[in-house]
Order: sequence, then structure tokens, then C-alpha cells
Amino acid sequence: MLLSVVIPVFNEEEVLPRLFEVLPEELDKLGCDYELVFVDDGSRDGSLSFLLSRANHNPKVKVLAFSRNFGHQAAITAGMDFASGDALVVMDADLQDPPELLATMLAKFHEGYDIVSAQRISREGESWFKRATADCFYGLMKRAVDERLQAQVGDFRLFSRAAVECLKSFREQHRFMRGIVAWLGLKEAIVPFHRRARFAGTTKYPAWKMMRFAWTAISSFSALPLKLSLYGGIVLIILGLTYSAYVIFENMIMKSTVPGWSSTICLILTFDGTILIAVGLIGDYVARIYEEIKGRPLYVINGMRNFAPGAGKPERAICIPRDSWEIQSQIPNRIAHENIDNPTQGPQS
Ligand code: UDP
Ligand code: MG
Repeated sequence: MLLSVVIPVFNEEEVLPRLFEVLPEELDKLGCDYELVFVDDGSRDGSLSFLLSRANHNPKVKVLAFSRNFGHQAAITAGMDFASGDALVVMDADLQDPPELLATMLAKFHEGYDIVSAQRISREGESWFKRATADCFYGLMKRAVDERLQAQVGDFRLFSRAAVECLKSFREQHRFMRGIVAWLGLKEAIVPFHRRARFAGTTKYPAWKMMRFAWTAISSFSALPLKLSLYGGIVLIILGLTYSAYVIFENMIMKSTVPGWSSTICLILTFDGTILIAVGLIGDYVARIYEEIKGRPLYVINGMRNFAPGAGKPERAICIPRDSWEIQSQIPNRIAHENIDNPTQGPQS
């Protein structure tokens, strides 16, 4: 049996040496063959050079290098497209997802589960703000996206080959992997674990990126915000009509015409604000439809190492199958831009 471990990497040079000390040791204990599929998501530090140097000495280390930062979810997708294992695990590079848990996850896989999800029962080294926003995130996602979403389950998961093949058929631009997994409804086991602090470096998901991710998750899975704006509009119309009845009564029966300036201004402001919000929501959905219609590739692989010729063949992706190429961060005077037009990254929240 072959186990593929997919690891997205974005500026992780501080943690990679430690990862290479810990992870292969744990994998050797499992007693099965394995491959490490690293997806470099446009790192600007020495991550890619480090990975390539390891890959040169170890054929089990496989590297896919994106041409720029396409985001965590795109990196996971690419890893799944190219990994060839009978089972596949996705984990962070920063050792927050403990490699010791792999044995338990694999045991569940052998019991016949298609998906084995690691659930955080505690989170070390994260600020109260990150924890509070993560709690809100899971609550909101459960209501707005899919009630089958598991709370405190991130992307640290094991998938059977059958589950990977299902996931590979989802080629949408705005991806929320956890929502897709819930949508599939395959047999899932939950394995609890204590989430450690990052081994080194900083999170790549500040609060604003998490909020953007939450919005991507909601809007790619649900029309709830549009429905809410519709319900809000209905409530406002009922209020508006009631108030109009009162105004007509005042005017025609009581004959007491009031100046009414303040109430008019209040009503205009409230109604206009609501209309603008609704239009903005619709605009955002239309923009997403537009991006899907364009059918742009999900990622561009600029080079790869240690993959068999013809590996992968992903749909809706560009893959330049060369194993020797210039590493972007080493090109002087060249600015690598981060996620300018593809806001589809996913935090671990
Ligand atoms: N990552 C990535 N692309 C990005 C951001 C993050 O490939 O644009 C990787 C990152 O290197 C790490 C994983 O995705 O391996 C999760 O990121 P991070 O640990 O910063 O998220 P957190 O655990 O703090 O939510
Ligand atoms: Mg992390």
C-alpha cells in the first residue's frame, strides 16, 4: 500500500528542516510505502530550494512548484491531482498537525472509512482572537454551508483513493474543500487531537484572510446571503407600508401634517443602505459566476521533481512538466504578488 502525504508550503523555510526530521520517522513506523508530495505555493523564501535539495537525494520526496501564490486550497488540489497513493493525507507544513496521529488515521482507513478527519479538541499557542473567530467560523459554516460540516475539523484529513477521485472531479475556481467533503457525504471517521502551536514562523492567515475565506466558503456553497437580503427587503416593505398607512391617516383624518423631515431622511438612509447591500451581494455572486464562466486554470505548475513522466494530467490546470527551472525568489528585481486575482485560499481556522 502507498500512502501519499500532501503538504502545501508557503514561506515555511523555518519549519521544513524539523518536518524532515519528524515526519519520515513517523511514516517509517507505519510499515507501508509512502510519498511526500510538497506543493510550493509560490514561496519567496528558501522553501523551494530546500525541498528540491531534499528531492534530489530522496525519490520519495516529490515537489510541485506553482508559478506564484495560488492559495492553500489550490495547493491541496494540485497535491491531490498528482499524488498516486491508495490513501492520501493532507497536512500543514508547520507541524501543527501531529505526524503521530497518522497511525490512528491509517487504522481507521483500514476499517473501511473513506475519510478520516482529525478534530482539534484543544488549540495551543493561538490567540483568543483566533480561537474566537474560528468558533464563529465553524458555527456560521454549519448554518450557512452544510450542517454535515464537522466543527474544529480543518484540512488535516485522510482520504481513500475513491474519495480522492471524487474530490478531483470538483474543478470550481472558488473552492472550499471542507464544504466539498461534507457535500460528498462519504463514510467519515473523526479522530480527536490536541493541536500544537506552530513549530516556527507565523500563520499565513491573518483575520482579514480568514474573513475572506469564510465569505468564499459561504458564497460558493449557499445562496443564503441573497435569501437574507430578500427576507430583509420583505420585512422593510411591510414596515414601510405600515408607516405609509400611518402617514396617510395623519394627513387625511387627523389633518396634522408634520414637517416630517427627520423621518424621511431616516427612511431614505435605511432603505438605500439596504438596497446597496443587496445589490453588492448580487454583484459579488455575479462576479463569481463570471470567474467560473471564464474557466481559467486553477493553478500553474512551473516545474516538478520526482514525478513519473505523464503523472497527474489534471483538468483545468496548467502544468509545465520540466524538472529544471528558475526559482522565482532568486530572480532579482522581480516582485512576486500574492493572490491578486484568486481569492480562494483557505485558512486552517
Ligand atoms: N499555505 C499555502 N498557501 C497560502 C497560505 C498557506 O500553501 O497561501 C500553507 C502553509 O504553508 C501551511 C498551510 O498552508 O502549510 C496552512 O497555513 P497556516 O499554517 O499558516 O494556517 P493556520 O494553521 O495558521 O490557520
Ligand atoms: Mg498551521
